[in-house]
Parts: sequence; C-alpha cells; structure tokens
Amino acid sequence: MKRIFSGIQPTGEIHLGNYVGAIRNWVTLTDEYDCIFCVVDYHAITVEYEIAEFRKRTIETALILLACGLPPEKCKIFVQSHVPEHTELAWIFNCVTPIGELERMTQFKDKSKQHRANINMGLMGYPVLQAADILIYKAGFVPVGEDQVQHIELSREVARKFNARFGDVFPEPQALLSIAPKILGVDGGAKMSKTLNNYIGLLEDKETMWEKLRTAVTDVNRVRRADPGNPEICNIYTIHRAFSENQILLDVDKGCRAAGIGCIDCKKMLFKNMLAELGPIREKALSLMEDTDYVIDVIRAGARDCGAIAKATMAETRGALGVLV
Ligand code: SF4
Repeated sequence: MKRIFSGIQPTGEIHLGNYVGAIRNWVTLTDEYDCIFCVVDYHAITVEYEIAEFRKRTIETALILLACGLPPEKCKIFVQSHVPEHTELAWIFNCVTPIGELERMTQFKDKSKQHRANINMGLMGYPVLQAADILIYKAGFVPVGEDQVQHIELSREVARKFNARFGDVFPEPQALLSIAPKILGVDGGAKMSKTLNNYIGLLEDKETMWEKLRTAVTDVNRVRRADPGNPEICNIYTIHRAFSENQILLDVDKGCRAAGIGCIDCKKMLFKNMLAELGPIREKALSLMEDTDYVIDVIRAGARDCGAIAKATMAETRGALGVLV
C-alpha cells in the first residue's frame, strides 16, 4: 500500500479552510493509502507561540482530527516531538541542503516579513524538517495545497542529494495536489487563517459561526440587493461548492447573476448545509473533550508505530553515513 504523510500545526483553532482544504480529503485518503498524520509541534515553535496553551492545543488538534472522522484503526495519528528521529534526520538533511535553496523558499520570505524580530534558523530550516517528516517514513505522497508544492520539490531534492552522496536510501516523494477549493477568510482578501483572524473555527458555536458568515465579504461589486452578482469571484460561493449539492449551486449561480436572491438568503442556505456536516463534528469533538485520555492513547499508539518505522529508517541512514553505531 502506498504511504502518505501529512502534518498539521497545533498553533491555533482549526478552521473551515483547514477542514475543506486538507482534513476532509485526508479522511477519504485513508481508504486507499497507508496514512500517517502528524501534529507538527516542532514546526510550530519556529514562530512565537503561547507556551502555556501549547499542550492543550496539541491535544485539541489531534482531537479535532478524530472528530472529523480520521479512523485511528486505519491510519496513524501522532505528535512530531514524540518521535525524535524526525529532528535527528533533519540535522543530517541540513548537511546536504544548500542554503541558497532555503533562502529562495516563498514561505521563508513571507514568514521573515511577518516575524522580523525573530528570523531564526528553524524558520529557514522548516522545509528541511518537513523533508525529514516525510522521508523518515519513506512516504511516496504528500497531500498538499498549491502553496506547499515548493517544499515538496525541496524534499525531492534533499532525497536526491542524500542518495547521490551516500547511496540509495530515500524515495522522491510526490505532491498529491488537493482539488478542494481554496477558502478565503471572511474578509474575502487572504487565505483563511488564524493569524489573520479572518477564520470561522470548526468548533465555534452556531451563533458565532453565523455572525461571521453573515458579515463575510461577498462579491464586492454587488453593493445593493438589486445589483446582479458574480458567484465566480465570491468567496461565499466557493464555500458553497464545498458544502452544497449541485442543484443548490445552480440555483445560487442563477439567482445571484439575476439578482433573484440576496446575499443573506444565499448565506442562510450555505449555513444550513455547513451545519449539517459540521454539527456532528462539533458534537463528537465536545464528547472527546470529556475523554482526552482516549485521544492521548491514540497519539501514544501512533507514536509507537511511527517510532518503529522511524528507527528502522535511521538505522539505515546511519549505516549509509558511515557513523559508528
Ligand atoms: S448571492 Fe451568494 S454568490 Fe452571489 S454575491 Fe451574494 S453571497 Fe455571493
């Protein structure tokens, strides 16, 4: 069975963008692939974070993955720092990765601008740790959005450079591009994110969710109710695509272009469909919050299984490096 690796940071509340863009797809992938899903806490410390909240956030992230339907009997879910071989391999990969490659990474440039007071080595080496996350399991595929393709290319290059110097150990992983629509934030400007505070949290209560959706930016050219709109440039329509059936999409498209429906009507339809899917997830998450021991058992078991694979890869890697064992 082909293996997949993917990670999610425990830095903040999991939102609609994470769910539609990644997690929902992960659930489907567990039918076809040997899936490893990791809460990447060591990636999260490359920027400022709330230390006092970190443990809770880490458990919560794993909990939400379970609530979204990732079946622990069919995939592995664990926390990155529980398998220290990730960082050991990252160090080795540091020694074959040209600095120039890291400097030209778009995410590094963006994050350097966002965190001017703390441009650290971890921020620059982020894609090297990512390569280690993937290659320690010799994963063949990595489900990602368009914005992460550059990092997967780097992982491939790291594997090539290592293999060329020390012998064939690592496969070159491929990006498995998500076909999910890219959800923008409620401001309609940038990708939905916790940092930009333009998100709808997956576990937010109904009232908060509706308030955020009700006031979310639509087609900015549709100023009055009588103005026709263009669903193609409306983020609400993009979210509809993720939650509504074809007939509703057709009706909204037609109604919007002819000014037959107002934006609030449109959002009400969307909200109903969102709640139908997200309501049970929220309920499941709330019940898991009463039983975090179960969540911890799942991530400990995941770390045990992943640790065994990682140890075997490290033994092979050390052999290839020629270090004394
Ligand atoms: S009717 Fe719906 S799709 Fe059209 S602009 Fe308003 S919110 Fe967007």
